[in-house]
Amino acid sequence: MNEIEKRLEGYQRLISIARDLASTLDLNVLLNRINYAAAEITEASAASILLYDDAARQLNFQVATNLDLQTMRGLVVPLNGSIAGWIVTNRKPVRVANAHEDPRFYNKIELATSFPTESLLGVPLINKDKVVGVLEVINKKNESFTEADEDLLLVLGAQAAVGIENARLFQQSDLIAEFVHELRTPLASISTATFLLLRPEMSQEQREQTISNIHDETLRLNTLASSFLDLARLESGRVQFHLTKFDLYPLLEECCQIMKSRADEDSIAITIKAPADFPQVEADRDKFKQVVLNLLSNAIKYNHPNGSVTMTALMSDREWTFSIRDTGMGIPEKARPHLFQKFYRVRASEDRVLGTGLGLSICKQIISGHGGSIDFESKPGKGTVFNIHLPKGV
Ligand code: ADP
Repeated sequence: MNEIEKRLEGYQRLISIARDLASTLDLNVLLNRINYAAAEITEASAASILLYDDAARQLNFQVATNLDLQTMRGLVVPLNGSIAGWIVTNRKPVRVANAHEDPRFYNKIELATSFPTESLLGVPLINKDKVVGVLEVINKKNESFTEADEDLLLVLGAQAAVGIENARLFQQSDLIAEFVHELRTPLASISTATFLLLRPEMSQEQREQTISNIHDETLRLNTLASSFLDLARLESGRVQFHLTKFDLYPLLEECCQIMKSRADEDSIAITIKAPADFPQVEADRDKFKQVVLNLLSNAIKYNHPNGSVTMTALMSDREWTFSIRDTGMGIPEKARPHLFQKFYRVRASEDRVLGTGLGLSICKQIISGHGGSIDFESKPGKGTVFNIHLPKGV
């Protein structure tokens, strides 16, 4: 195939990719498609997309054909002293035959991933004058990247930038619409409560009850607002996970301590069944703690008085599992498929227990961001167990 035929074939591929890209609004699916398309049309060994975080002035790996999620989430590239940073600052592509000979090359990624970089081609992702990130392909099979590769990648990059912004806007508008909807219920109760407080015929006892309702609803609004922000950040892919090695047992004890007074109110006993010498685990400690606190809080909230909660950790060859078992009300069969959906709450518990319906969505986002999974088993009236499976380490 001569040069012209090759170009024509590349353009043909671009047209079909454009159609494919237009058909999805799921940010991660979209980024993966762009990425594989980039590697394919330039015959590269690997491709990655780094999204630019202008507040932190750094680039975060979002997808890469050669890195797993867990490795990627901890990797950041600084704006200064990297080829990707140069691309963002100068809004121009970079094409080099040997990245190591380029003074801008940032070698920490290579060290962390043990995937040596030779030739490299990167283009800025620009939408409406705003740089949203960088699309990079590395190690062209058998040769260096050509000018034709650069042209193709620039066109793909332009399509990708529009797609990324669209997916983000869609995600935000979807989430905001749901959020506003959720605000209505507590606001309506507060409004009714204040109206009642103004009625002279209310007894002192009724007044106290009404004030306590207002207090509960404001607490709920508060949690709703912070959970919403957490989830919006996690969903936009802008959250970085800072992986460290730590002991699990002290973390579980801290969580018990935090939830103790709430558990004591209903005389619920909490037990930790992880050996104190459990090997260190690797994860983002704060985010993992947020997951444990969410699950523990649910295990207490949806329990019976005098019930119990048991936290267990198990290590196997390739993964470790953390489980929280409660003796509570359980989850009805027909609610199960919806449990991890945003704002979803089981009807029977909705009126009795305060909540936002966001806790489990946040847990799921955090766990899948670590390359792990979360599932549950439940027997209505008997109890529920949530299991988290995480890879053993990078
Ligand atoms: P929230 O607890 O704020 O409502 P979550 O997302 O944490 O939101 O949980 C969603 C729903 O799943 C809860 O409203 C509850 O109905 C159900 N649920 C969660 N954990 C448990 C549990 N341990 N036992 C019974 N039901 C649970």
